Amino acid sequence: MAEQKRDYYEVLGVDKNADEAALKKAYRALAKKYHPDMNPGNEEAEKKFKEASEAYAVLSDPEKRRQYDQFGHAAFDGAAGGAGGFGGFDFSGADFSDIFGDIFGDFFGGRSSRRANNGPMKGSNIRTSVRITFEEAVFGCEKEIELNTKEECKNCHGTGAKPGTNPEVCSKCGGKGQVVFTQQSFFGTVRNVQACPDCQGTGKVIREKCTDCRGSGYIPIRKRFAVDIPAGINSGQCKRLSGQGEPGINGGPRGDVLVEVIVGRHPIFQRQEYDIFSTVPVSFAVAALGGEIIIDTVDGKVIYDVKAGTQTDTRIRLKGKGVPSLRNKEIRGDHYVTLVVQIPDKLSHEAKELLRRFDEESGDSLNAAKRLTGEPKDKGPAPKKKKGIFK
Ligand SMILES: [Zn+2]
Ligand SMILES: [Zn+2]
Repeated sequence: MAEQKRDYYEVLGVDKNADEAALKKAYRALAKKYHPDMNPGNEEAEKKFKEASEAYAVLSDPEKRRQYDQFGHAAFDGAAGGAGGFGGFDFSGADFSDIFGDIFGDFFGGRSSRRANNGPMKGSNIRTSVRITFEEAVFGCEKEIELNTKEECKNCHGTGAKPGTNPEVCSKCGGKGQVVFTQQSFFGTVRNVQACPDCQGTGKVIREKCTDCRGSGYIPIRKRFAVDIPAGINSGQCKRLSGQGEPGINGGPRGDVLVEVIVGRHPIFQRQEYDIFSTVPVSFAVAALGGEIIIDTVDGKVIYDVKAGTQTDTRIRLKGKGVPSLRNKEIRGDHYVTLVVQIPDKLSHEAKELLRRFDEESGDSLNAAKRLTGEPKDKGPAPKKKKGIFK
């Protein structure tokens, strides 16, 4: 044990100011990587796992962390009689249950200690999705969805036992729904609690099964739901239908239905948070002279007065014409419109003549060719040269 101990922060690869979430994240990553279950027989991995566990146990406890910050490893020297296989470190105060729950949940398809008891458990959530249009997302809508779920069997009222009979208390677990066995691991001897294999954790055994549900207590059904989708929802957000999911276990509440909303694209509008963006063409003449244009908004058409001399790519704001806030639909984002001045590419003979006259009239300031050739301002137009500009 003369080995030099590494700094706990270094072990976890975090900064000295790391907060609880950062510590947990770092530890979770290391624990996943080095957990003995993932690296059977790999002593190096086991050592790394212990090292990370020890570092996390200390740093995640504010009091121990304070001591460590002050005294380093010396803070814990001789702490707990060398029994635990962690170089004498006392782990009794560390709570790994939630973090291991996460890790094992990730790795072993939801195996968790909560399974191993027959207390009431909330049913599983059912996930589904629904497509709505851009406008439906802006103003909210009601959609109907249909999905597979389960309903309590009416024949046996959910007991799973043939009507007239009752489920019996499981003899293997005495109705507890769980059995305890011991296992040797690097933590020492571990008492493991597992769901009873005879009754699958329910604590009950059904001798004569209900014929309608074959003992499950539930009948699969296809059910329709009306989903009230609030104004302002965005793609990827979920609407939760509480208590509409899979039935609970042992009298637990039903899970939820989570409806993910997928919002379709709009041909004109783009959305960013609660603001809407669009582009509107403005004729060359209106941009120069000013005038009214019509702009499409989610509330319908709006007349907008373009100022004389508006340049292309000018962005205007239509206040309150954006998407309502999910929290309060009275509060709305804005609609930003980019005005794009259109340069005509097809001109009649007459229009060309008018533009030539306009060009002559507009003088030096607008005529780059004149400026380049340095013609004096008062000398008047030089028609032959200028013809080349407009083809
Ligand atoms: Zn039944
Ligand atoms: Zn049992």
